[in-house]
Amino acid sequence: MRVLVVEDSKPTRLLITSRLAKEGHEVDSAENGRQGFLMATSNQYDVLISDIYMPEWDGFKFISAMRVVSPHLPIIVVSSSHEENVLRERFNEFENIVETLPKPVDFNTLFDILKTIKVQTHNAVRKMTRIVCTIGPASDSPEMLGEMIVAGMDVARLNFSHGWHEQHEKTLNSIRKAEQEWGKPIAVMLDLCGPKIRTGKMPEGGIVLKKGQLITVQADPVEGNRERFSTIMPEIIQDLHVGDQVLIDDGLIELKVVKEGEREAECMVVVGGVLKSNKGMNLPVTKLSIPSVTEKDRKDLEWGLNHSVDYVALSFVRSPEEILEIKEIIYQSAKRSRGVKVVAKIEKPEAVEHIQDIIDVADVIMIARGDMGVELPAAKVPRIQQEIIRMCWESNTPVITATQMLDSMTRNTRPTRAEVTDVSVAVRSGTDAVMLSGETAVGVDPLNVVRTMASIICEEEQYATVNERQHQQFSHDLKTNPAIMAAASLIKSAATMLIDRSGKLYPQMSKWNRRVPSLLVTRSLHVARQSSMYKNIVPIIIGDNLTRDEMVFQAMARAKEWGYLRAGDLLVVVEGGRLTQGDIPQLGAFQLVHVE
Ligand code: PEP
Repeated sequence: MRVLVVEDSKPTRLLITSRLAKEGHEVDSAENGRQGFLMATSNQYDVLISDIYMPEWDGFKFISAMRVVSPHLPIIVVSSSHEENVLRERFNEFENIVETLPKPVDFNTLFDILKTIKVQTHNAVRKMTRIVCTIGPASDSPEMLGEMIVAGMDVARLNFSHGWHEQHEKTLNSIRKAEQEWGKPIAVMLDLCGPKIRTGKMPEGGIVLKKGQLITVQADPVEGNRERFSTIMPEIIQDLHVGDQVLIDDGLIELKVVKEGEREAECMVVVGGVLKSNKGMNLPVTKLSIPSVTEKDRKDLEWGLNHSVDYVALSFVRSPEEILEIKEIIYQSAKRSRGVKVVAKIEKPEAVEHIQDIIDVADVIMIARGDMGVELPAAKVPRIQQEIIRMCWESNTPVITATQMLDSMTRNTRPTRAEVTDVSVAVRSGTDAVMLSGETAVGVDPLNVVRTMASIICEEEQYATVNERQHQQFSHDLKTNPAIMAAASLIKSAATMLIDRSGKLYPQMSKWNRRVPSLLVTRSLHVARQSSMYKNIVPIIIGDNLTRDEMVFQAMARAKEWGYLRAGDLLVVVEGGRLTQGDIPQLGAFQLVHVE
């Protein structure tokens, strides 16, 4: 049986582990709950034995975190205070506690309990691919956010198509509280709604449109009826031309313009349905003159910069200039906000046409498959997704695959098999991140969704191999830092450590090093948070005023504590700063360390 013992007292820890080992069990140990949690999420155990009073992460915090990631993994509590009434009452809250035992441990009783526990296989949540979660009413409490972090959330998305600033501020505070509570840096992505075109006000219940009927869409606001309706974006009317397609409500309703005009356009219903208020409108073939960055976006962006978000996503991008415009606004803002990175959401046909130019200027690409599947034939989305992931990998730009990944889990507790395959395929293709939208924002069980997503990723990542193309580029790549290339190709290492003060090199590490954990040593919480978007980067924040050796030593101790390294492992250390002195690698740029 594989057992993990979590106990802060060294003599007790040694005693329990040695007695268990003598009985033939395979035993690991951790000296506090945090270390225990990290070990138990990356290794497979059949049972955990835990103390309650511990200096870092007490037993209850450890047990509740384990309940999130492995709810069926049994825990035996061993505590000298186990008879205390307050403790006994709390034990009842946790269905993953199978027994409580007093100290000193009666080993015969413990061995008898172990005999009753079934050996099982568990899913670890040490995954490389990132999970972006949209936060909404179903997930905005610090408690739920904490559980989602534990289950594998890396990036929190605030969708500015909904809500107001005070509400987003409350959510942001909850994210930061949960982040601090669980000690894992979380990137916050503000998603600007861009020029999202929507229908204006319609009567309660909407109106029924029948194939072949005529209906006019107009610039001036009006409560819709069978003859006419308005849009919240009146500027689009002048851009509509005869023959243009108007798709409403994710393409469920289709209109065709038959008569154009300055203030109104007459349309024929091609596919009918119920037309309701505030439904999305897509104009796939119309050349729109409205700017991609609207007045609302500018105000929302200002809010984001004042609230230190880590990423800003721009919707309905059509050209690289729009990304540069957002970058310029960010650059002109207060100095501390200048590091905010920009995500280009690819959903318009024009963006697909200019994809390489957009990849060249954006920090991150999002394949926004929801609107993309309306703006372009849905059948083309899988191939576009595959191609964008490939191009992003070649350009060393992280890419998020988004929308409807586990959509049915907004309502159900289990995903469809097709959804599971969709997540798997995205991971296999090399996506850096996968995104959840309504599933976590308004779904019935956001925690279950994150847990499901993490388990699909973990399963798929067991089989990930470097593909032919990567091999080819690997041997011809002259742009990437040679020390990173050397580190990534070292088969025998257990982990790679990157000292990257500026936070400029870790994207290269993320691209090439997808075999063993990439430990990013940084002093900056901001760099650590941003790195959470990048595949396989584990940030370690260390203190100021340390020498290089102290830095490596401290980070190594942390990595050991978290279960990324063990005595006897080979660690590769790459130091970013030393590599920038000309093109010649400097002494200390690449170092091999035997972990003791
Ligand atoms: C999408 O359309 O896929 C998307 C991510 O955008 P939004 O959720 O903002 O509509």
